[in-house]
Amino acid sequence: MLYQRSSALFDEAQKYIPGGVNSPVRAFKSVGGVPVFMKYAKGAYMTDVDDNVYIDYINSWGPAILGHTHPEVLEAIQKQAENGFSYGTPTELETEIAKLIVENVPNIDQIRMVSSGTEACMSAIRLARGFTGRDKIIKFEGCYHGHSDSFLIKAGSGAATFGNPNSPGVTAGTAKDTLLARYNDFEQVEDLFRHNEGEIAAIIIEPVAGNMGCVLPENNFLQKLRTICDENGALLIFDEVMTGFRLAFGGAQEVFNVKADLVTFGKVIGGGMPVGAFAGRNEIMNHLAPRGAVYQAGTLSGNPLAMRAGLTTLELIKKDASFYQNINKATETLDFEIGKILNSKNIPHRINRKGSMMSVFFHATSVSNFDEAAMANHSLFNNFFHQLLENGIYLPPSGFETWFISDAIKEKEIDKTLEVIRKFEYS
Ligand code: PLP
Repeated sequence: MLYQRSSALFDEAQKYIPGGVNSPVRAFKSVGGVPVFMKYAKGAYMTDVDDNVYIDYINSWGPAILGHTHPEVLEAIQKQAENGFSYGTPTELETEIAKLIVENVPNIDQIRMVSSGTEACMSAIRLARGFTGRDKIIKFEGCYHGHSDSFLIKAGSGAATFGNPNSPGVTAGTAKDTLLARYNDFEQVEDLFRHNEGEIAAIIIEPVAGNMGCVLPENNFLQKLRTICDENGALLIFDEVMTGFRLAFGGAQEVFNVKADLVTFGKVIGGGMPVGAFAGRNEIMNHLAPRGAVYQAGTLSGNPLAMRAGLTTLELIKKDASFYQNINKATETLDFEIGKILNSKNIPHRINRKGSMMSVFFHATSVSNFDEAAMANHSLFNNFFHQLLENGIYLPPSGFETWFISDAIKEKEIDKTLEVIRKFEYS
């Protein structure tokens, strides 16, 4: 494939945009090479500026669960645009989407819309601190909750890819209130509660981690976190920015049958527009301004174009009774068939999968936490990534990321993907 125009655009972009990108992982630093500039996306496919076409396994890092540019979402956005882009006043639409989410996600009474997953998690933590009157939070190594200061401590995603988990600019004062534990290591969580008695406001966790690659909770880890939070008067926050409306309409709470006190959302609920949200029971959410004292606000929060895209996306998912069955089945097929191919080539690997999230780790043993994800053969992943890219398959450009399967990926796209992987040369 030729990437001439992408190359030229990247050179130009680097003059005006730090690193040429508006979010670090897009720069391909981990996998090497020149990032591909896209100009068009429809259904399962993206087309770059050199007219190369790709089957997309990122789907905008999760939001495009229906595939790109779904005609009904497009029409809904177009119609809304004719009525105005943003008013800075309440709209009926905001209540409509809030009602749909509250009625379908377990254990929440109210939801506040923001414009990104970062804002959602940052605000949820502030609310947890305001509610409990405590300062400290527990997060897990390799989990990413956006780039707010409290979370940039051994964070996953781009922060892990760059080997720079403790970002300069995060003050020691902030960092001291973020306690770290290994994902799936309950003993470490117990130790933290023991040594910080009465000081921990909340545990925040990706109930299925997607930012160290896909890593699943094991041995009732989520249930155990629920119990220890209850025993210690701390809140349990599920960061469902990735898993919300992706694992099930009720998210990870529904799938694992564990109640969270606060839930954060992003990605799917915006249908491709910049949206985040956080939600919880009345007793907690009533502490939020203007009803309560915990401040939180946003000029574009509840933006009508974004709300319309999100609402239409959620309605389309809800009315398709076999939606989750279909995307989960497609992901399962990819998992099994890719596994067979890699076995036939004697390539040590582990595939982690939950619902329509999956990752291929080139690692001989199980991957249950960040250390194990980091031990995988990332240079082999980079090789795999580039061979697939060259053949029209677009994977996340880092071994620390999750593939997101959309409803537009059908048998034809899976067959083509497997055909390319069959030709993968292990060097
Ligand atoms: N939480 C999780 C689990 C995420 O995966 C992300 C982003 O990938 C975020 C929070 C931050 O969301 P955003 O990038 O919209 O700020």
